[in-house]
Amino acid sequence: SDEFKMVLGALELYDKTVENAMTRYEDIFMLPDTLNLSADMVTQILDMGYTRIPIYEKKTQDDDEDRKNVVALLFVKDLALLDPADSHNVMKIASIYNHEVRRVLVDMPLRNMLEEFKRGEYHMALVERLVEQEDKDPIYELCGLITLEDIIEEIIQCEIIDE
Ligand code: ADP
Repeated sequence: SDEFKMVLGALELYDKTVENAMTRYEDIFMLPDTLNLSADMVTQILDMGYTRIPIYEKKTQDDDEDRKNVVALLFVKDLALLDPADSHNVMKIASIYNHEVRRVLVDMPLRNMLEEFKRGEYHMALVERLVEQEDKDPIYELCGLITLEDIIEEIIQCEIIDE
């Protein structure tokens, strides 16, 4: 039955890790902390359809590199209350609401990630991997983003593949 397959899908969460379900780094929609929002840009951001948008610190000319420095989260709903008189720098808006940026390791079992989300404190986490460096301490590097939706999809997918 479908229920049986769903249970199998859920059981497979024990073998899978966050890496199997996450949205990859290259596909994360983010904004630089230097960005000042025009009305047009707000419309474009709303059209993307995401609820939460990581904000990264612009340190160099290299966007690909800078995107690893996520410093804040912007919730799209926070844009609803923008005062036309205020400056609309994204980092300034994000700082007002100050949503916590949660981070998990890429090899975390998916089952544990699900348990975390079920506790209800947060619904999205940045995914990091540990990178060993010669003669230096290892560093954590951003490699993805995961939400509850990704885990549910992982359960449903098992059902479809099993057909
Ligand atoms: P949303 O409400 O923003 O659509 P969901 O939790 O429903 O977020 O997740 C839907 C999918 O979108 C998931 O695969 C998730 O990893 C991905 N996702 C969420 N936020 C972003 C983002 N800022 N950039 C890219 N993908 C994202």
